[in-house]
Amino acid sequence: MRVSIKAPAKINLTLDVLSKRPDGYHEVEMVMTTVDLADRVDLTLLESRDILIDCSASFVPNDMRNHAYKAAKLLQERYSVNKGVHIYIDKQIPVAAGLAGGSSDAAATLRGLNRLWNLRLSLDELALIGEEIGSDVPFCVYGGTALAKGRGEKLRHMISPTPCWVILAKPPIGVSTADVYGNLRVDQIKKHPKTEEMLQAISEQDFSLMARSLGNVLEEVTLNRYPQVRQIKELMLESGADGVLMSGSGPTVFALVQKEAKVHRIYNALRGFVKDVYAVRMLGESEMEILD
Ligand code: ATP
Repeated sequence: MRVSIKAPAKINLTLDVLSKRPDGYHEVEMVMTTVDLADRVDLTLLESRDILIDCSASFVPNDMRNHAYKAAKLLQERYSVNKGVHIYIDKQIPVAAGLAGGSSDAAATLRGLNRLWNLRLSLDELALIGEEIGSDVPFCVYGGTALAKGRGEKLRHMISPTPCWVILAKPPIGVSTADVYGNLRVDQIKKHPKTEEMLQAISEQDFSLMARSLGNVLEEVTLNRYPQVRQIKELMLESGADGVLMSGSGPTVFALVQKEAKVHRIYNALRGFVKDVYAVRMLGESEMEILD
């Protein structure tokens, strides 16, 4: 028996850091949405309790360090499951890119194993387990669009933003999230994103307010370190993007546009500069499908 699950990337429409907590985590406030750039996670039932993992990308760990492996192990132990699984990840989301690829693979593994191992858990129960793997995993369990608080695990679900195109570009550098947070001085943040305006833009389906309200306090850290990230932002704006922002801790930058003609112009301009460019749509919660 086998199930295949779609594991979509997320982007941050806003990312604010409010404080550093005594437990070492940062208190964040961010609006996240899933986009139609996805890994595929194939789960094949094993009659033994083995958890085996393979990934199409050679530089992703193929062992217990993989977030999908951790998800399977936690679920198996928590619910005393006497079966195992072979996990295969067809990697399409760039790695260490600010797109939560690893978190999404873990979330897809939780959703798929819930079915394969016949556990009948709710999404809320899966999200609680996801929290133990990483701060973005609960969001990835539900997908869609949400305001995330705490260290990212406290979610308020929202309707999807008004339909638009998202053009993503990733320069050929990997960024460590821990490094970026480590270099952030919370008391020196000059410009906080307008989270309330972003929430209003989404609920009122106002595209231009959404484009104007994009903001990410981690951008400054990554822009100063990697000039390519700034160049990509400038190129997107020169080519007609309505709004541009770095996602998460980067280095992926995305542009929002509504007109299809602009999508082609921005895509072509970026392809002359970087290899990893994608033009995709945002995904609603109902589109977090199981593929078979
Ligand atoms: P986030 O935005 O949640 O910090 P990211 O998109 O920046 O995540 P990931 O692609 O999730 O970064 O990868 C971060 C690290 O996690 C990688 O360096 C990789 O070694 C490790 N990792 C573990 N499991 C996976 C997985 N299934 N896919 C990708 N990376 C994984």
